[in-house]
Amino acid sequence: MSETERGCRRFLTAFTLLLVGAASAQAHGEWLFRETAIMGTRCAVELWTDDRAHGLALIDDVFAEMRRIDALMSTYKPESELSRLNARAGRRPVQVSAELFDLIETAVDYSRVTHGAFDITYASVGYLYDFRSHKRPGSAAIATGLANVDYRKLKFSAGPRTLAFMNPGMRIDLGGIAKGYAVDRGIAILQRAGVKDAMVNAGGDTRILGDRRGQPWMVGVRDPNDRDKVALRIPLENASISTSGDYERFFDEGGVRYHHIIDPKTGDSARALRSATVIATTSLRADALSTSVFVLGPERGIELINELGDVDAVVVTPEGKLLYSNGLAPP
Ligand code: ADP
Ligand code: MG
Repeated sequence: MSETERGCRRFLTAFTLLLVGAASAQAHGEWLFRETAIMGTRCAVELWTDDRAHGLALIDDVFAEMRRIDALMSTYKPESELSRLNARAGRRPVQVSAELFDLIETAVDYSRVTHGAFDITYASVGYLYDFRSHKRPGSAAIATGLANVDYRKLKFSAGPRTLAFMNPGMRIDLGGIAKGYAVDRGIAILQRAGVKDAMVNAGGDTRILGDRRGQPWMVGVRDPNDRDKVALRIPLENASISTSGDYERFFDEGGVRYHHIIDPKTGDSARALRSATVIATTSLRADALSTSVFVLGPERGIELINELGDVDAVVVTPEGKLLYSNGLAPP
């Protein structure tokens, strides 16, 4: 692993934010930082404000929005709208809120762009894994589940918004896109309130609004082999960055790593990369594409990013090599 740099770590999530300079002295105001656990992960907000009480209230508003989205879209909560949809849509069309409907449609757009590497119906087999209790399906169960994995079998109807699963055993899971969506919603709250410089983070997904008072934010991409090390530092302004890695939720068995990013073609964990980091304008796009690139692997993943043109990526291969998209490639 080259280019390793260490720095002052603010918090440890899928990657580490590194602060540069002490630029805060030259203006009236202060940085406020708070973190909490939502959506099964660390979430954080940092913003620049000259009104501390207002700033803290805004941070609470962002966390409240993240909790609202979690309550709507968590598959761990049996009462969430998504869980109720999963329980019923295999039998008949189910009415869906505009918000969930739109996000599922967006997820399907990413399935088309990635030729099925990103597919929320992966959950038809994905639900058979339990990484905390080291549980994984055998090959017969994988084959049965895989028969239900196909984003083209989600049947949308736009009148009264309904969704039906054309395969009864189908399930969906928005874990590959919901955190990015939540981060974007958080940033929108801050923007509407007039905040100019801020950072919102949920697990591996981070969006930067503005900059760090005249300097870019330095965002670190973790070394997959050592969570305390940073493989690469990327300066960012007004941008989103998302990392998908095999070291977040996993267990090792017989020298093989089973982790939470599933190749919809095989029903097994994708293993062509250790991590995939994508930089995009919105956090939703970075989130969906980082999961996608992880599944696609180094060649096809970087190729997709170069084709899309508005995004960048850096991936870490199993050998520890860093590969970059055109926009990030070192001179
Ligand atoms: P993290 O959740 O650690 O930030 P990702 O953004 O890469 O990491 O999302 C991984 C999550 O995406 C998984 O936990 C699962 O919910 C979902 N997922 C896994 N495989 C796929 C896939 N092939 N397509 C879409 N979503 C997936
Ligand atoms: Mg993702």
